[in-house]
Amino acid sequence: MRPGKELVSERHFVSLARTDTNTRPPLRCRNQKTFMADKNSKQPENIPGKWYVDTTCVPCNSCMDEAGSLLKYSEDQSHVFFVKQPATPDEEACAQRASEICPTGSIGNDGA
Ligand code: SF4
Repeated sequence: MRPGKELVSERHFVSLARTDTNTRPPLRCRNQKTFMADKNSKQPENIPGKWYVDTTCVPCNSCMDEAGSLLKYSEDQSHVFFVKQPATPDEEACAQRASEICPTGSIGNDGA
């Protein structure tokens, strides 16, 4: 076998990437979210409670499919906010899923 290569079939080799973990930053999965909602920047319309949307909402509508009964668009359609706090385990799961799919990390839970 060739040095630095891995046999993947009888006729094909692929290069093995050098992995020097001391000098390279950790690789990130493309879908790995690096944003977190900021509880100090909550949309003012959020109904009081632990779940909130912060001011980074774009809005993209993704969360409405998961938690449309809990969220509402602002009058000028510039963002969404929590119009209702989850009251059941199912609604809690909906809010959690909405926060997980939010591409900007605008949905937070401060545990209040
Ligand atoms: S998924 Fe996030 S960015 Fe998109 S509308 Fe909902 S809160 Fe806003």
